[in-house]
Amino acid sequence: MWSFATEPEFQAQLDWVEEFVREKVEPLDYVLGSQWNIHDPDFERLVRPLQAEVQARGLWACHLGPELGGKGYGQLRLALLNEKFGRSRFGPIVFGAQAPDTGNSEILAHYGTAGQKERFLKPLLANKIVSCFSMTEPQGGADPLVIKTTATPAGDGWVLNGEKWFASNARYAAFYIFMAVTDPDEVPYRRMSMFIVPADTPGIEILRNYGFHGEPEDTHGHVRLTNVQIPAENMLGKRGEAFIVAQTRLSGGRMHHAMRTLAKATRAFEMMCERVVSRFTKGEQLAQKQMVQEKIADSWVQLRQFRLLILETAWLADQTNDWKAVRKNVAAVKAVMPKVLHDISAHALHLHGSLGLSNDMPFSEWLVDSFHVGLADGPTEVHKVTVAREVLKEYQPTNVMFPSYGIAEQTAHARAQYNLAPHQLT
Ligand SMILES: Cc1cc2nc3c(=O)[nH]c(=O)nc-3n(C[C@H](O)[C@H](O)[C@H](O)COP(=O)(O)OP(=O)(O)OC[C@H]3O[C@@H](n4cnc5c(N)ncnc54)[C@H](O)[C@@H]3O)c2cc1C
Repeated sequence: MWSFATEPEFQAQLDWVEEFVREKVEPLDYVLGSQWNIHDPDFERLVRPLQAEVQARGLWACHLGPELGGKGYGQLRLALLNEKFGRSRFGPIVFGAQAPDTGNSEILAHYGTAGQKERFLKPLLANKIVSCFSMTEPQGGADPLVIKTTATPAGDGWVLNGEKWFASNARYAAFYIFMAVTDPDEVPYRRMSMFIVPADTPGIEILRNYGFHGEPEDTHGHVRLTNVQIPAENMLGKRGEAFIVAQTRLSGGRMHHAMRTLAKATRAFEMMCERVVSRFTKGEQLAQKQMVQEKIADSWVQLRQFRLLILETAWLADQTNDWKAVRKNVAAVKAVMPKVLHDISAHALHLHGSLGLSNDMPFSEWLVDSFHVGLADGPTEVHKVTVAREVLKEYQPTNVMFPSYGIAEQTAHARAQYNLAPHQLT
């Protein structure tokens, strides 16, 4: 059965979220620094009461499934929720659903031991601490097989050495999840394991924090690990299964990111619409110009297409309960996300003229952000290759010179089927 409707009870929650985010959360974006800086006294004063409101409403940290102790809303409702709070930089943390903590809590819930859950997952879910997921290295991110950081057995534990790159949130994290080579002689995808490392472990050094245009602080760490000793119990998942653990966190994360990106692109769209009906040039509204109308129409269509693709993918994920089964769709969502944000932010910037380019508007920030969403969690090119590979798996080669779907052959076939006289050849 097909339906594009939301159940009334959940719609009521979404309506509450929409108003709450616009009225109380969005203003935080203008007055606070990094949303992961939970140590800032203003975070305590301004964000904590809003988090309490969300908890009272039963909407806190909804990303975990029921088997992992969460609400069990499913991906479709999570997508709708993310679309609402994704309007604001502080939205995710006010709802206990900020990356990378969501993904980290997912893998801790999935693969963590009872001890790991007690020590790391419990305070993470309560946002008493924040965390960092660190896989990428200076020599490469798109190809995880170039990872060089090693974890060597030592006593009853491990010693980590290497360098990590663009470790988001490293400076505020209470613990890191590092991917390191434990079995260099194994087949490529069995060489690495995942480790939970408390941030105050000796030997961890943030060499520099990097940032980009639009971010209030530099929070992406270049991290060096020198003889970092950790006990055996800090391995997350099984030895050699880092890729399996990483995949568990990535699919849901990409979907939630997509809905939040949709929310941002929708804001850009709303701003551009308001502007073109308000601004006049050569005696008429900008909105009367056909080339302006084309941008509005293209943007609206792009937004709706993107939204439908995300919702269909989320719905499929709920049906199958298996991210692998919807790999193609998730990769498609991830691949199209940067283009939607890029195109709509660019149109919004352009249609606001000089004001659009200025620092008083968010468009150049969102344009840069479109490159962020095209790189983080894997570059667009890699996801497009996944889409194509998955699509083409459904096709078999033929061994005939001319395809059977040629019109002449199809016509002959149809005529034979319906017992019609063959075509007269002229
Ligand atoms: C804002 C932000 C936050 C991030 N946070 C984290 C984090 O918390 N933890 C973490 O581990 N990593 C993080 N990353 C790193 C991210 O995963 C990498 O940036 C990404 O995997 C790309 O790697 P790279 O930056 O080394 O680029 P490269 O791999 O050097 O890619 C360079 C260029 O080549 C293109 N390219 C790459 N592969 C292919 C291909 N197969 N075909 C064609 N073109 C290709 C890329 O699109 C890009 O244009 C973050 C990145 C960003 C931008």
